[in-house]
Amino acid sequence: MYEIPFNSPYFTGNELVYLQDAQKRGRLSSNGEYTRKCQHFFESRYGFERVFLTHSCTQALEMAALVLDLGPGDEVILPSYAYVSTANAFALRGCSLVFADSRPDFPAIDETKIEDLISPRTRALVIVHYGGMSCNMEKIIELSIKHDIYLIEDAAAAIDAYYLDSNGEEIPLGSMGHMATFSFHETKNISCGEGGMLVLNDVSFIDRAEHIWSRGTNRKSYERGLSAAYQWVSIGSAFAPSEINAAWLWAQLEQIEHIKNKRKIIWDWYDEHLEALFENFGIKRPTIPEFVRQNYHLYYLTCTGLEQRQDLIEFLQSRGVLAVFHYQCLHLSPFFREQYQGEPLYEAEKFQNTLLRLPLFVDLDRNQLQGLIQGGK
Ligand SMILES: *Cc1c(COP(=O)(O)O)cnc(C)c1O
Repeated sequence: MYEIPFNSPYFTGNELVYLQDAQKRGRLSSNGEYTRKCQHFFESRYGFERVFLTHSCTQALEMAALVLDLGPGDEVILPSYAYVSTANAFALRGCSLVFADSRPDFPAIDETKIEDLISPRTRALVIVHYGGMSCNMEKIIELSIKHDIYLIEDAAAAIDAYYLDSNGEEIPLGSMGHMATFSFHETKNISCGEGGMLVLNDVSFIDRAEHIWSRGTNRKSYERGLSAAYQWVSIGSAFAPSEINAAWLWAQLEQIEHIKNKRKIIWDWYDEHLEALFENFGIKRPTIPEFVRQNYHLYYLTCTGLEQRQDLIEFLQSRGVLAVFHYQCLHLSPFFREQYQGEPLYEAEKFQNTLLRLPLFVDLDRNQLQGLIQGGK
């Protein structure tokens, strides 16, 4: 046990109230009152065209691949410095994966290295807003339009985060791709244990997505009286979560501002206090590109190498603080490395070996943390 764990889920206090209310309503399966409330919240607050809650971001990515009807022979470009699900959802459909490098200054995909990877078979570009921090979207959207490829934002950690465009406008992450996926896993800013959602920003996908979401049936149009019979109309799966998940999520969404503000205080505190502690060792604070308007999902340091990072992890451990590294490059993974035929991806490897995430959660006690780090036992 650590005195300061890496993450500790935050509870607003209303989770059990809404669970009880869902029970009283007498409907706990999918697509009830709380599911609709949550979906409407996102559609109205961020201008998302259509939202489907799912059991996870992993499932939302799988649903995206199904909605786009991707399969063998189709190429999908994505960053190597990403979570397993970002790639696995497309591997499941038999797509060919083409991995891109990170920016030198920042772990997100290097937008200048994408165009060389595009081929006549490229159907989709999946980007990851690393730690809830935006990719350089104007260049990425331009590529998607120029080459007529679908753009999917893996915005798993990017709830209530924005991209500052060149006109000075803040655009919600998840509203710029044809589709976007989000996570409500316990480790994310807003959570219901396990949960996620698929966002559609292109209305032409809505009917197909509704069928795929509802086990391949026309249940929605049947319930609205628009179809004479309830039947099998498409491939699909059971992607829709129960009202139990949605009721919990609703209690969290009501506190979205509060949660972000609390996280910002900790993020800013790290950024002010760590430089003096670590600069002599060459350990760096994050460099955040000017177009990022973040949601304070994570705070990371970059070390000079693997060995120094291990020393830092052990130093923090000895003081009762758990810090953890992050993604292992997907192109070098045990599952993929034999198939990988692309160039070396040096920047992604650099972040694999040097990046360290510090504890960041709403109830983190900064005085306790400072005492532990500086106290010296
Ligand atoms: C957390 C995360 C996922 C997985 O989300 P789940 O809801 O746990 O399936 C996928 N992609 C990225 C970038 C993530 O950060």
